[in-house]
Amino acid sequence: MTAAPEAFDVAVVGAGIVGLSCARAAALRGLKVVVIERDWKACGASIRNFGFITVTGQDRDTVWERARRSRDVWAAVAPAAGIAIVQRGLWVAARRREAVGVLEAFLRTDMAEGCELLTADSARRRFPDLATPGLQAVLTSPHELRVESRTAVPLLATWLARDHGVAFRWDTAVHAVAPPRLETSGGRIAAELVVVCPGDDLKTLYPERLAAAAVSRCKLQMLRLESPGFAFPATLMADLSLARYGGFARLPAAEELKRRLALEQPECLRHGIHLIVAQGADGSLVVGDSHHYDTAAEPFAAEGVYGLLLEEYRAATGRPAPRVLERWIGTYAVASDRALLVESPAPGVRLVLVTSGVGASTGFAIGEDVIKELCA
Ligand SMILES: Cc1cc2nc3c(=O)[nH]c(=O)nc-3n(C[C@H](O)[C@H](O)[C@H](O)COP(=O)(O)OP(=O)(O)OC[C@H]3O[C@@H](n4cnc5c(N)ncnc54)[C@H](O)[C@@H]3O)c2cc1C
Repeated sequence: MTAAPEAFDVAVVGAGIVGLSCARAAALRGLKVVVIERDWKACGASIRNFGFITVTGQDRDTVWERARRSRDVWAAVAPAAGIAIVQRGLWVAARRREAVGVLEAFLRTDMAEGCELLTADSARRRFPDLATPGLQAVLTSPHELRVESRTAVPLLATWLARDHGVAFRWDTAVHAVAPPRLETSGGRIAAELVVVCPGDDLKTLYPERLAAAAVSRCKLQMLRLESPGFAFPATLMADLSLARYGGFARLPAAEELKRRLALEQPECLRHGIHLIVAQGADGSLVVGDSHHYDTAAEPFAAEGVYGLLLEEYRAATGRPAPRVLERWIGTYAVASDRALLVESPAPGVRLVLVTSGVGASTGFAIGEDVIKELCA
């Protein structure tokens, strides 16, 4: 006689930040939860990103509110899970008149609460190591948090298992979902409800749904640089970010900046480059990123793209780029018409993909919303 499979209330496929967020929300409702992950540990976008929980600059309509809620959850969960908040806040260093125009327009929106526009002199007084040639102004935001994702995400899983009784099945691929059963490489698992959070795996589960929603993939190139020997006051962005992040880029004032960037930094725009400099507890810097939209997401990383990133680092900080310690690529799911895909491919099943590259910033709120609706 074959033993009955272990039974759970909720099975979550994928141990990235979206899957862990759904597991947290389900466990907080007192449900018996299992997370099934095909790798030995999460290795996808969730550990390859900046760990930058971004609020200011997020698109007003689709992302900003979820980012604020998720930031609050990170702030509460991090100490409980032993995750260090290694940086707080955002500085956007504007070196073009048109970029200052975008920041001034942003300050007139309701998203600007708590933000401040510093003159170049006042920014340098607060951060004397900022030597940006032609610096015009700096927007400061107090709303952001930064974690070191490659350690934070595993710590989150450990905390869910230890403090919330969530079961984990690592090294186990899910082949088919049909509640109350899931077929996996490790045998059958029973669960009444299933949340599939596959990141950018668009082919294993519900590929027809993902194809119909025109979900594709984006490839990003990233760097870790040695400590520059000083502490940044916050995570740093610059002019190119104002043409990329919806909360800035959708403002009418951004059009003039985009025209100037097209003339002055066409190569950066061609490779979807904008600058984020995020510092860790050891002083090292995670620097990125580029964006190449390509379903195949080939594994090759162009050295020229890294060169452009390092050049932009020098332009935005006025400092030589420290030695490169690591290079890597990351990939995430994208769709041109939505920031988030939540579908119900079968009764009791939800398919959840962040399709805009903001899962670290919005995952916790998404998990709460999905589980609330699924359990209603
Ligand atoms: C370089 C880079 C920088 C980024 N920077 C930021 C940032 O600063 N801030 C921000 O908010 N967002 C950022 N993002 C986006 C963010 O990382 C993603 O939106 C988020 O990590 C997506 O989380 P996820 O859980 O959906 O996917 P993933 O992290 O990819 O996790 C999905 C998991 O599902 C597993 N899986 C898939 N199919 C199966 C199956 N059939 N069976 C078992 N397991 C399966 C995979 O193995 C994987 O571990 C960045 C992304 C990248 C790549």
